[in-house]
Amino acid sequence: ASTRPYNFSAGPAAIPEEVLRLAAADMLDWHGSGMSVMEMSHRGKEFISIYERAEADLRELLAVPPHFRILFMQGGGLAENAIVPLNLSGGTSADFVVTGSWSQKSLKEARKYCTVHVAASTEADGYTTLPDPAGWQLADNAAYVHICTNETIHGVEFQILPDLKALGSKAPLVIDFSSHVASRAVDWSRVGLAFGGAQKNLGPAGVTLVVVREDLLGHALPACPSAFDYKTVADSHSMYNTPPTWAIYVAGLTFQWLKKQGGIAAMEQRNIAKAQLLYDFIDRSQFYANRVAPSCRSRMNVPFFLRDESRNEAFLAGAKDRGLLQLKGHKSVGGMRASIYNAMPIAGVQALVNYMQEFERTQS
Ligand code: PMP
Repeated sequence: ASTRPYNFSAGPAAIPEEVLRLAAADMLDWHGSGMSVMEMSHRGKEFISIYERAEADLRELLAVPPHFRILFMQGGGLAENAIVPLNLSGGTSADFVVTGSWSQKSLKEARKYCTVHVAASTEADGYTTLPDPAGWQLADNAAYVHICTNETIHGVEFQILPDLKALGSKAPLVIDFSSHVASRAVDWSRVGLAFGGAQKNLGPAGVTLVVVREDLLGHALPACPSAFDYKTVADSHSMYNTPPTWAIYVAGLTFQWLKKQGGIAAMEQRNIAKAQLLYDFIDRSQFYANRVAPSCRSRMNVPFFLRDESRNEAFLAGAKDRGLLQLKGHKSVGGMRASIYNAMPIAGVQALVNYMQEFERTQS
């Protein structure tokens, strides 16, 4: 059994211990090649084999249909906030559904490249709910509709992707799935493009996953940097420039680990059980609170508050003593946040609940 602490960081986040051990074992000499993965040409047969396996495993895990391309890019989710409008907007306009800090940031960045239109927003309720798609004010001419399917800071998650066609829109749906990718299935029939940084659920920081429908390639604005033109990246199998080789390799080990765990459907069941354990405990407590509407709660990021916030520092110090790390909430929201991505076992969530119970007892 592991003696490592349980790490609740929102990202960069915990990586499965087995993956870290494999990467450590390969560090000086990958599979008898005499090279660390960090020292290999990205065009050599060794790295190409790592890359092809990673891509194939991810395609299988996420059930990505053949008419979608998988790109491994750089720049993180925030760069995608610019890269998406540079590729998809045609300089016209895009719709945004604002449900927390991350979709708010996406809208602000896109404004540099196209006209932005807020189709719906939950700012008025402090981002504790999600707007019913039936009420979204979708523009007739939007080049795409952007949503963040899991708001890492506010802890709201779309449980079902909106069906834009049924809402009378022909625009492709763009989803920022940075903080819940690979935690649940994706209904690709409703998606035009998905993007996410790897550093929460897929591996180390430095690689950004983009899954894009083929018909959306080849429409970049002339000013789009070549390295960020989805068609250029797709045509060169993410090797137009040097890809983040180490991050792709560790993400690939994580994909193999996910397959051994039973794939995404099995992970989803575990994630449901983990989230339920924590939310049920918080909801029964008079000492802790979560402010998100139950039907909109994230399975990955659980923000919570001590009703008496003067005890926050003592709570965090006691948690750290018990090997429960990085529970401090995001500064814009305050309180606590437990991020319980795929690499967090249910035993870690149980250890957190046990500690929360104990802390409440000793404080009252
Ligand atoms: N979108 C979401 C939902 C995120 O959680 C984050 C990172 N916390 C980002 C975008 C930004 O990603 P990056 O820091 O990789 O640019």
